[in-house]
Amino acid sequence: MTDPSAIAAPYAEAEQVGPLVRRVLARNPSPFTYTGTQTYLVGAAGDVAVIDPGPDETEHIDAILAATGNARIAAIMCTHTHRDHSPAATPLAARTGAPIIGCAPLTLEDDGPRADAAFDSHYRPDRVLADGEAVAGDGWTLTAIATPGHTSNHLCYALPETGALFTGDHVMGWSTSVVAPPDGDMSDYMESLALLYRREQDTVYYPAHGPAVEKPRQLVRGMIGHRRQREKQILRQLEAGRHRIGDMIPHMYKGVDERLWPAAGRSVHAHLIDLERRDLVTSANDKWSLRA
Ligand SMILES: [Zn+2]
Repeated sequence: MTDPSAIAAPYAEAEQVGPLVRRVLARNPSPFTYTGTQTYLVGAAGDVAVIDPGPDETEHIDAILAATGNARIAAIMCTHTHRDHSPAATPLAARTGAPIIGCAPLTLEDDGPRADAAFDSHYRPDRVLADGEAVAGDGWTLTAIATPGHTSNHLCYALPETGALFTGDHVMGWSTSVVAPPDGDMSDYMESLALLYRREQDTVYYPAHGPAVEKPRQLVRGMIGHRRQREKQILRQLEAGRHRIGDMIPHMYKGVDERLWPAAGRSVHAHLIDLERRDLVTSANDKWSLRA
């Protein structure tokens, strides 16, 4: 696997990627963020929306403001509140007076099973969008599409004027998305993939990480197939007598960067919870078994 930080990437520059859409890449490359978080500016003049403002890094916030120029920021919109997506919302709102509109905040505990350091606990939206609700500006509309799974509060945003869909971390071209319990939920994730597959109006996806996806339904169909394969693989591990996630991972993720194994383990856990809900497996004391 190529180390994403070794890929030449246009940090702190605004790139026009399609009609009404510009992209600014934040300098936070990692095995989970690829070359970094991509912030999108939607709108050509007058006012713009900023989707996924990214990490709270001055270089990145300055680049977003430079790209905004004389336009007004009508809305700062987050797809979800992982720390690589939403922390810049607060300083950007403070510097511009723009409202934060979009996904709901997550109430997670500071410790215990619901605690998760990957989340931005400072996120405070001015307005939360329910599924189907929209924000409109000069020549653009962004409609929230509830897509829980990667996180429970995940939204995609559709731009009907061009057929673009901003997919956040729900669907990305470069990697499958991490579904980590307890907030990440594989049953929801699969339903949210099926929802996108039914949307024939989307012609291009702009994910928060990695390149635009030009044949989006084909990718979504492939991802649904990939998750079903993963599920079969897990059932075979159980058949082979491996009952703990830690025993399954080295067999299932041979050849994969070991830094990704803990995340892979959380995805396998998410599949097991889904299989248990469907009465296909049972669990006791972190040991999983096929239902007899
Ligand atoms: Zn995320």
